Amino acid sequence: MTDLTDFQRKISSALPHIQMRFQEPLSAHTSFRIGGPAEVMAFPEDAAQLGQLLEQSALLDVTAAILGAGTNILAPDAGIPGLVICLKELSQIRQLDETHIQADAGVTMTRLAVFAAGLGLSGLEFAHGIPGSVGGGVYMNAGAYGGEIKDVCNSVQVLTADGGLQTYSADEMDFSYRHSRLEEERGIVVSAVFELTAKDPEDIRSRMQELAAKRKASQPLDKPSAGSAFKRPVGGYAAALIEQAGLKGYQVGGAAVSDKHSGFVVNLGGATAQEVKDLLKQVSDRVFAQTGIRLEPEVRIW
Ligand SMILES: Cc1cc2nc3c(=O)[nH]c(=O)nc-3n(C[C@H](O)[C@H](O)[C@H](O)COP(=O)(O)OP(=O)(O)OC[C@H]3O[C@@H](n4cnc5c(N)ncnc54)[C@H](O)[C@@H]3O)c2cc1C
Repeated sequence: MTDLTDFQRKISSALPHIQMRFQEPLSAHTSFRIGGPAEVMAFPEDAAQLGQLLEQSALLDVTAAILGAGTNILAPDAGIPGLVICLKELSQIRQLDETHIQADAGVTMTRLAVFAAGLGLSGLEFAHGIPGSVGGGVYMNAGAYGGEIKDVCNSVQVLTADGGLQTYSADEMDFSYRHSRLEEERGIVVSAVFELTAKDPEDIRSRMQELAAKRKASQPLDKPSAGSAFKRPVGGYAAALIEQAGLKGYQVGGAAVSDKHSGFVVNLGGATAQEVKDLLKQVSDRVFAQTGIRLEPEVRIW
């Protein structure tokens, strides 16, 4: 273990039973395909291992970053010193009763929607095609085509900042547009319960196919991105404002405003996080100068 950093040596010897990778490129774990190495990336398999990782990193005075499916993150070019906890191994999904499903944080939203459809349970059609995880979706109240996590979420099991497991009702989650209380509290979603309604599975599937076709027709799904780059501003749509400012296709290095959907920033190949940040700032400034509306990034900049 000669080449290991002090932190890599200490955390791996304290928690030998937990899967870890060292100097793991974040570009391999983010849909933008951007980001330098994580000093340690850990893959807990259950809430107990997640708790142990948090406890150990606190003892070593390191703050852990939480990674779901990596589809709403701009990770830094220099990487992350310390610990990144990837939750993709928390992947159980189960039916609780006739109308309730519980999914672990690492389950993808598309898998959750397909599971619900198979049971003839409606409500998650909107989530089919959102490439993130249940944890990331709950954390930021993901939504599409008129649906949001808050419409179907019944409760959320959270590992709180003090290390305790707590269940919040949907009301207690303080959901609003692309926001939940967890953003302020640094709580980690372990699992969530969804309350759905019975419907003909064929109707559910055909709605999901309709939405998939809409996505394919309007979004640059063939290029790395993190989805909508900006939040929807009050009184307008980011994509329309960007297009009106003449910024469709606008490029900074390998980062560009998509020429298919101006609300998306895409990686044309080899884009750096700095280029994406510069592009986001220039677009926001130009739109502000023209309209007085300030666009705020939806993508989480680490
Ligand atoms: C092609 C494309 C299309 C998209 N379409 C949509 C869309 O229609 N609607 C929409 O809302 N979004 C969309 N997105 C964005 C993204 O998929 C969502 O924001 C999704 O909810 C992010 O989940 P994630 O697991 O990828 O989170 P990550 O990107 O891994 O993380 C995002 C944030 O959530 C935090 N986080 C992740 N997991 C947890 C957890 N378990 N507990 C606490 N915090 C956590 C992270 O620390 C980070 O701050 C799209 C993205 C792409 C690439």
